[in-house]
Amino acid sequence: MKIRAALLEEFGKPMAIRELDLAPPKPGEVLVKIHACGVCHTDLYTWSGVDPSGYAPTVLGHEGAGVVEEVGEGVTSLRPGDHVITLFSPECGACDHCSSGKTNICTAIREQQGQGFLPDGTPRLSIDGEPVRHFMGTSTFAEYTVMPEIALAKVDSTAPLDKICTLACGATTGLAAAIHRASVEPGSSVAVFGCGLVGLGAVAGSQIAGAETIIAVDNSPERLAIAESYGATHLFPGGSDAVERILEMTGGNGVDYTFEATGITAVMQQAVEAARFGWGVCTVLGVAGKGETLDIVPRLLITGRTVQGGSFGGAKGRTHVPQFVDMYMDGKLDLDGFVSHHLSLDEVMKGFDLMEAQDGIRSVITF
Ligand SMILES: [Zn+2]
Ligand SMILES: [Zn+2]
Repeated sequence: MKIRAALLEEFGKPMAIRELDLAPPKPGEVLVKIHACGVCHTDLYTWSGVDPSGYAPTVLGHEGAGVVEEVGEGVTSLRPGDHVITLFSPECGACDHCSSGKTNICTAIREQQGQGFLPDGTPRLSIDGEPVRHFMGTSTFAEYTVMPEIALAKVDSTAPLDKICTLACGATTGLAAAIHRASVEPGSSVAVFGCGLVGLGAVAGSQIAGAETIIAVDNSPERLAIAESYGATHLFPGGSDAVERILEMTGGNGVDYTFEATGITAVMQQAVEAARFGWGVCTVLGVAGKGETLDIVPRLLITGRTVQGGSFGGAKGRTHVPQFVDMYMDGKLDLDGFVSHHLSLDEVMKGFDLMEAQDGIRSVITF
Protein backbone atom coordinates (compact mmCIF):
# COMPACT_ATOMS: atom_id res chain seq x y z
CA MET A 1 0.00 0.00 0.00
CA LYS A 2 0.99 3.64 -0.46
CA ILE A 3 1.52 5.64 2.74
CA ARG A 4 2.68 9.15 3.63
CA ALA A 5 5.67 9.23 5.95
CA ALA A 6 8.45 11.56 7.10
CA LEU A 7 11.54 10.21 5.35
CA LEU A 8 14.99 10.77 6.84
CA GLU A 9 17.22 10.76 3.77
CA GLU A 10 20.26 12.61 5.05
CA PHE A 11 21.23 13.25 8.70
CA GLY A 12 20.58 16.79 9.83
CA LYS A 13 18.58 17.73 6.71
CA PRO A 14 14.87 18.55 7.05
CA MET A 15 12.71 15.46 6.58
CA ALA A 16 10.21 15.69 3.74
CA ILE A 17 6.84 13.97 3.75
CA ARG A 18 7.05 11.42 0.95
CA GLU A 19 4.90 8.67 -0.47
CA LEU A 20 6.37 5.29 0.47
CA ASP A 21 5.33 1.70 -0.17
CA LEU A 22 4.45 -0.47 2.82
CA ALA A 23 4.29 -4.24 2.24
CA PRO A 24 1.58 -6.26 4.00
CA PRO A 25 2.31 -7.95 7.34
CA LYS A 26 4.15 -11.28 7.20
CA PRO A 27 3.50 -14.09 9.72
CA GLY A 28 3.59 -12.77 13.29
CA GLU A 29 3.28 -9.17 12.08
CA VAL A 30 0.54 -6.56 12.30
CA LEU A 31 -0.47 -3.57 10.16
CA VAL A 32 -1.29 -0.59 12.38
CA LYS A 33 -2.94 2.68 11.35
CA ILE A 34 -1.14 5.34 13.38
CA HIS A 35 -3.47 7.93 14.94
CA ALA A 36 -0.97 9.80 17.13
CA CYS A 37 2.77 9.91 17.71
CA GLY A 38 4.90 11.85 20.18
CA VAL A 39 8.14 13.51 19.06
CA CYS A 40 10.89 12.21 21.37
CA HIS A 41 14.47 13.27 21.96
CA THR A 42 15.74 9.97 20.55
CA ASP A 43 14.18 10.85 17.17
CA LEU A 44 16.03 14.18 17.21
CA TYR A 45 19.25 12.48 18.34
CA THR A 46 19.18 10.01 15.45
CA TRP A 47 18.06 12.65 12.93
CA SER A 48 21.05 14.83 13.89
CA GLY A 49 23.50 12.07 12.92
CA VAL A 50 25.18 11.99 16.35
CA ASP A 51 23.82 8.51 17.15
CA PRO A 52 26.64 6.10 16.21
CA SER A 53 24.13 3.33 15.43
CA GLY A 54 21.94 5.54 13.23
CA TYR A 55 21.29 4.81 9.54
CA ALA A 56 19.46 6.38 6.59
CA PRO A 57 17.17 6.27 4.73
CA THR A 58 14.69 5.48 7.46
CA VAL A 59 11.37 6.61 8.90
CA LEU A 60 11.80 7.87 12.48
CA GLY A 61 9.15 7.95 15.22
CA HIS A 62 8.59 5.55 18.11
CA GLU A 63 5.91 7.06 20.37
CA GLY A 64 2.96 5.78 18.40
CA ALA A 65 -0.60 4.82 19.19
CA GLY A 66 -3.08 3.51 16.68
CA VAL A 67 -5.55 0.89 15.57
CA VAL A 68 -4.87 -2.58 14.16
CA GLU A 69 -5.87 -2.68 10.50
CA GLU A 70 -4.77 -6.19 9.51
CA VAL A 71 -2.94 -9.12 11.11
CA GLY A 72 -0.51 -11.58 9.51
CA GLU A 73 -0.65 -15.36 9.74
CA GLY A 74 -0.38 -16.82 13.24
CA VAL A 75 -1.15 -13.60 15.12
CA THR A 76 -3.40 -14.61 18.01
CA SER A 77 -3.37 -11.80 20.57
CA LEU A 78 -4.50 -8.96 18.30
CA ARG A 79 -7.23 -8.47 15.72
CA PRO A 80 -8.44 -5.65 13.46
CA GLY A 81 -9.98 -2.81 15.47
CA ASP A 82 -7.80 -3.33 18.55
CA HIS A 83 -6.19 -0.17 19.91
CA VAL A 84 -2.44 -0.49 20.43
CA ILE A 85 0.62 1.36 21.64
CA THR A 86 3.84 0.73 19.73
CA LEU A 87 6.74 -0.72 21.73
CA PHE A 88 10.37 -0.15 20.76
CA SER A 89 11.02 -2.56 23.63
CA PRO A 90 9.05 -5.75 22.85
CA GLU A 91 7.89 -8.41 25.29
CA CYS A 92 7.77 -11.90 23.78
CA GLY A 93 7.30 -13.64 27.13
CA ALA A 94 9.33 -16.63 25.98
CA CYS A 95 13.00 -15.70 25.42
CA ASP A 96 15.68 -16.31 28.08
CA HIS A 97 15.37 -12.73 29.28
CA CYS A 98 11.57 -12.59 29.38
CA SER A 99 11.31 -15.91 31.19
CA SER A 100 14.01 -14.98 33.73
CA GLY A 101 11.70 -12.51 35.44
CA LYS A 102 14.81 -10.42 36.06
CA THR A 103 14.70 -7.94 33.19
CA ASN A 104 12.37 -6.21 30.74
CA ILE A 105 14.95 -6.37 27.95
CA CYS A 106 13.51 -8.94 25.53
CA THR A 107 16.02 -10.45 23.13
CA ALA A 108 13.60 -12.14 20.71
CA ILE A 109 14.02 -9.65 17.84
CA ARG A 110 16.79 -7.45 19.19
CA GLU A 111 19.43 -8.10 16.55
CA GLN A 112 17.26 -7.52 13.48
CA GLN A 113 15.48 -4.58 15.09
CA GLY A 114 18.79 -2.87 15.81
CA GLN A 115 19.68 -3.08 12.12
CA GLY A 116 16.36 -1.65 10.99
CA PHE A 117 14.66 -4.85 9.91
CA LEU A 118 11.61 -6.80 10.94
CA PRO A 119 12.34 -10.21 12.53
CA ASP A 120 12.80 -12.00 9.16
CA GLY A 121 15.68 -9.68 8.30
CA THR A 122 13.89 -7.54 5.70
CA PRO A 123 12.06 -4.19 5.82
CA ARG A 124 8.42 -3.67 4.78
CA LEU A 125 9.11 -0.06 3.77
CA SER A 126 10.43 1.03 0.38
CA ILE A 127 10.44 4.01 -1.94
CA ASP A 128 10.64 3.74 -5.73
CA GLY A 129 11.66 0.10 -5.27
CA GLU A 130 14.56 0.94 -2.93
CA PRO A 131 14.33 -0.54 0.61
CA VAL A 132 13.89 1.85 3.55
CA ARG A 133 14.84 0.55 7.00
CA HIS A 134 12.61 0.75 10.07
CA PHE A 135 13.66 2.79 13.12
CA MET A 136 13.52 1.25 16.62
CA GLY A 137 11.22 -1.38 15.12
CA THR A 138 8.44 1.21 15.04
CA SER A 139 8.76 3.95 12.33
CA THR A 140 5.66 5.80 13.48
CA PHE A 141 6.18 9.16 11.71
CA ALA A 142 3.94 7.53 9.13
CA GLU A 143 0.25 6.94 8.43
CA TYR A 144 0.71 3.17 8.80
CA THR A 145 3.39 0.84 10.11
CA VAL A 146 3.97 -2.91 10.16
CA MET A 147 5.30 -4.27 13.45
CA PRO A 148 5.74 -7.64 15.17
CA GLU A 149 2.83 -8.72 17.36
CA ILE A 150 5.17 -8.91 20.39
CA ALA A 151 5.96 -5.19 20.02
CA LEU A 152 2.37 -3.97 20.33
CA ALA A 153 0.55 -3.42 23.62
CA LYS A 154 -3.23 -3.82 23.40
CA VAL A 155 -4.94 -1.08 25.38
CA ASP A 156 -8.41 0.20 26.38
CA SER A 157 -10.09 1.19 23.11
CA THR A 158 -11.86 4.14 24.74
CA ALA A 159 -8.60 5.88 25.73
CA PRO A 160 -7.66 8.98 23.66
CA LEU A 161 -4.76 7.93 21.43
CA ASP A 162 -3.27 11.44 21.29
CA LYS A 163 -2.67 11.31 25.05
CA ILE A 164 -1.75 7.67 25.66
CA CYS A 165 0.89 7.73 22.89
CA THR A 166 3.14 9.41 25.48
CA LEU A 167 3.21 6.01 27.22
CA ALA A 168 5.03 4.50 24.23
CA CYS A 169 8.31 5.94 25.51
CA GLY A 170 8.90 8.94 27.77
CA ALA A 171 6.05 8.80 30.28
CA THR A 172 6.31 5.04 30.81
CA THR A 173 10.09 5.29 31.26
CA GLY A 174 9.65 7.61 34.25
CA LEU A 175 6.55 5.97 35.68
CA ALA A 176 7.93 2.44 35.48
CA ALA A 177 11.30 3.52 36.87
CA ALA A 178 9.58 4.75 40.04
CA ILE A 179 6.90 2.06 40.37
CA HIS A 180 8.61 -1.07 39.01
CA ARG A 181 12.39 -0.55 38.72
CA ALA A 182 13.09 1.32 41.96
CA SER A 183 9.85 0.23 43.69
CA VAL A 184 9.46 3.53 45.55
CA GLU A 185 7.92 2.85 48.96
CA PRO A 186 5.11 4.77 50.69
CA GLY A 187 6.42 7.52 52.96
CA SER A 188 9.82 7.64 51.27
CA SER A 189 11.84 10.58 49.93
CA VAL A 190 12.68 11.05 46.25
CA ALA A 191 14.71 13.46 44.12
CA VAL A 192 14.19 13.70 40.36
CA PHE A 193 16.89 15.40 38.28
CA GLY A 194 15.48 16.75 35.02
CA CYS A 195 11.78 17.44 34.46
CA GLY A 196 11.18 16.61 30.83
CA LEU A 197 8.67 13.88 30.07
CA VAL A 198 10.79 11.10 31.63
CA GLY A 199 11.49 13.06 34.83
CA LEU A 200 7.84 14.14 35.14
CA GLY A 201 6.87 10.48 34.74
CA ALA A 202 9.18 9.66 37.65
CA VAL A 203 7.61 12.43 39.73
CA ALA A 204 4.11 11.16 38.92
CA GLY A 205 5.14 7.53 39.57
CA SER A 206 6.69 8.43 42.91
CA GLN A 207 3.52 10.21 43.98
CA ILE A 208 1.39 7.25 42.90
CA ALA A 209 3.72 4.96 44.89
CA GLY A 210 3.10 7.10 47.98
CA ALA A 211 6.38 8.99 48.35
CA GLU A 212 6.12 11.71 50.99
CA THR A 213 8.88 14.03 49.80
CA ILE A 214 9.48 14.54 46.07
CA ILE A 215 12.20 17.02 45.14
CA ALA A 216 12.17 18.14 41.50
CA VAL A 217 15.41 19.60 40.13
CA ASP A 218 15.39 21.51 36.83
CA ASN A 219 16.63 24.81 35.41
CA SER A 220 13.28 25.71 33.88
CA PRO A 221 10.76 27.39 36.21
CA GLU A 222 7.98 26.30 33.81
CA ARG A 223 8.98 22.66 34.10
CA LEU A 224 9.27 22.90 37.88
CA ALA A 225 5.73 24.31 37.99
CA ILE A 226 4.49 21.31 35.99
CA ALA A 227 6.45 18.98 38.31
CA GLU A 228 4.63 20.57 41.23
CA SER A 229 1.29 19.80 39.59
CA TYR A 230 2.42 16.15 39.37
CA GLY A 231 3.22 15.94 43.06
CA ALA A 232 6.68 17.46 43.58
CA THR A 233 6.83 18.87 47.12
CA HIS A 234 10.11 20.79 46.75
CA LEU A 235 11.40 22.60 43.65
CA PHE A 236 15.14 23.23 43.21
CA PRO A 237 16.96 24.87 40.32
CA GLY A 238 19.68 22.71 38.76
CA GLY A 239 23.32 23.56 39.30
CA SER A 240 26.34 22.61 41.32
CA ASP A 241 24.67 23.19 44.70
CA ALA A 242 21.66 20.91 44.06
CA VAL A 243 23.21 18.00 46.01
CA GLU A 244 24.19 20.27 48.89
CA ARG A 245 20.61 21.54 49.17
CA ILE A 246 19.20 18.00 49.14
CA LEU A 247 21.68 16.84 51.81
CA GLU A 248 20.89 19.91 53.88
CA MET A 249 17.15 19.24 53.95
CA THR A 250 17.68 15.54 54.81
CA GLY A 251 20.03 15.96 57.76
CA GLY A 252 23.07 15.23 55.59
CA ASN A 253 21.86 11.74 54.63
CA GLY A 254 20.29 12.15 51.18
CA VAL A 255 17.00 10.79 49.84
CA ASP A 256 15.79 7.19 49.56
CA TYR A 257 15.45 7.26 45.77
CA THR A 258 16.97 9.45 43.08
CA PHE A 259 16.15 9.47 39.38
CA GLU A 260 18.27 11.05 36.66
CA ALA A 261 16.53 12.09 33.44
CA THR A 262 18.86 14.49 31.66
CA GLY A 263 21.51 12.37 29.93
CA ILE A 264 24.18 14.69 31.37
CA THR A 265 26.86 12.67 33.17
CA ALA A 266 27.59 15.44 35.70
CA VAL A 267 23.92 15.33 36.70
CA MET A 268 24.04 11.51 36.93
CA GLN A 269 26.90 11.98 39.39
CA GLN A 270 24.73 14.36 41.43
CA ALA A 271 21.93 11.80 41.46
CA VAL A 272 24.34 9.22 42.90
CA GLU A 273 25.61 11.66 45.53
CA ALA A 274 22.10 12.69 46.60
CA ALA A 275 21.03 9.06 47.24
CA ARG A 276 20.79 8.18 50.89
CA PHE A 277 23.71 6.92 52.94
CA GLY A 278 22.93 3.27 53.86
CA TRP A 279 20.27 2.34 51.29
CA GLY A 280 19.71 5.04 48.67
CA VAL A 281 18.93 3.82 45.16
CA CYS A 282 19.91 5.93 42.16
CA THR A 283 18.18 5.07 38.87
CA VAL A 284 19.84 6.48 35.74
CA LEU A 285 17.40 7.02 32.85
CA GLY A 286 19.05 9.59 30.57
CA VAL A 287 21.10 8.55 27.56
CA ALA A 288 24.62 9.99 27.71
CA GLY A 289 26.67 10.94 24.67
CA LYS A 290 28.93 8.44 22.96
CA GLY A 291 32.08 7.64 24.95
CA GLU A 292 31.03 9.59 28.05
CA THR A 293 31.60 7.95 31.44
CA LEU A 294 30.11 8.36 34.89
CA ASP A 295 32.46 9.13 37.80
CA ILE A 296 31.48 7.58 41.13
CA VAL A 297 33.51 7.75 44.34
CA PRO A 298 33.60 4.05 45.43
CA ARG A 299 32.99 5.02 49.06
CA LEU A 300 29.46 6.02 48.05
CA LEU A 301 28.78 2.43 47.03
CA ILE A 302 30.49 0.81 50.01
CA THR A 303 28.35 2.93 52.31
CA GLY A 304 25.20 1.42 50.92
CA ARG A 305 24.08 3.23 47.78
CA THR A 306 22.94 1.30 44.73
CA VAL A 307 23.22 2.64 41.19
CA GLN A 308 21.04 1.11 38.50
CA GLY A 309 19.68 1.96 35.09
CA GLY A 310 16.50 1.11 33.32
CA SER A 311 15.79 0.90 29.61
CA PHE A 312 12.12 1.94 29.16
CA GLY A 313 12.23 2.41 32.95
CA GLY A 314 12.25 -1.36 33.39
CA ALA A 315 8.71 -1.59 31.96
CA LYS A 316 7.53 -4.80 30.35
CA GLY A 317 5.66 -3.20 27.49
CA ARG A 318 2.76 -5.57 26.91
CA THR A 319 2.19 -6.02 30.66
CA HIS A 320 2.74 -2.58 32.17
CA VAL A 321 1.72 -0.13 29.43
CA PRO A 322 -1.95 -1.28 29.38
CA GLN A 323 -1.94 -0.93 33.20
CA PHE A 324 -0.77 2.70 32.90
CA VAL A 325 -3.53 3.35 30.33
CA ASP A 326 -6.05 1.97 32.83
CA MET A 327 -4.64 4.20 35.58
CA TYR A 328 -5.09 7.19 33.26
CA MET A 329 -8.68 6.18 32.45
CA ASP A 330 -9.38 5.69 36.19
CA GLY A 331 -8.16 9.24 36.89
CA LYS A 332 -5.14 8.08 38.91
CA LEU A 333 -2.61 9.31 36.36
CA ASP A 334 -2.73 12.55 34.35
CA LEU A 335 -1.24 12.33 30.86
CA ASP A 336 -2.98 15.42 29.46
CA GLY A 337 -0.51 17.73 31.21
CA PHE A 338 2.38 16.12 29.30
CA VAL A 339 1.05 17.08 25.86
CA SER A 340 1.90 20.70 25.12
CA HIS A 341 1.59 20.90 21.32
CA HIS A 342 -0.42 19.14 18.63
CA LEU A 343 1.15 19.02 15.17
CA SER A 344 0.37 17.54 11.76
CA LEU A 345 2.78 15.09 10.10
CA ASP A 346 3.87 17.90 7.76
CA GLU A 347 4.98 19.87 10.83
CA VAL A 348 7.31 17.14 12.15
CA MET A 349 10.37 19.40 11.89
CA LYS A 350 8.57 21.97 14.05
CA GLY A 351 8.40 19.24 16.69
CA PHE A 352 12.21 19.10 16.68
CA ASP A 353 12.43 22.91 16.85
CA LEU A 354 10.11 23.01 19.87
CA MET A 355 12.18 20.32 21.59
CA GLU A 356 15.45 22.13 20.96
CA ALA A 357 13.89 25.34 22.32
CA GLN A 358 12.67 23.34 25.37
CA ASP A 359 9.21 24.72 24.58
CA GLY A 360 6.66 22.54 26.34
CA ILE A 361 6.95 18.91 27.38
CA ARG A 362 5.70 16.84 24.44
CA SER A 363 4.60 17.60 20.89
CA VAL A 364 2.17 15.03 19.53
CA ILE A 365 1.56 14.50 15.82
CA THR A 366 -2.01 13.54 15.03
CA PHE A 367 -3.06 12.05 11.72
ZN1 LIG B 1 11.69 8.03 23.12
ZN1 LIG C 1 11.42 -11.94 25.17
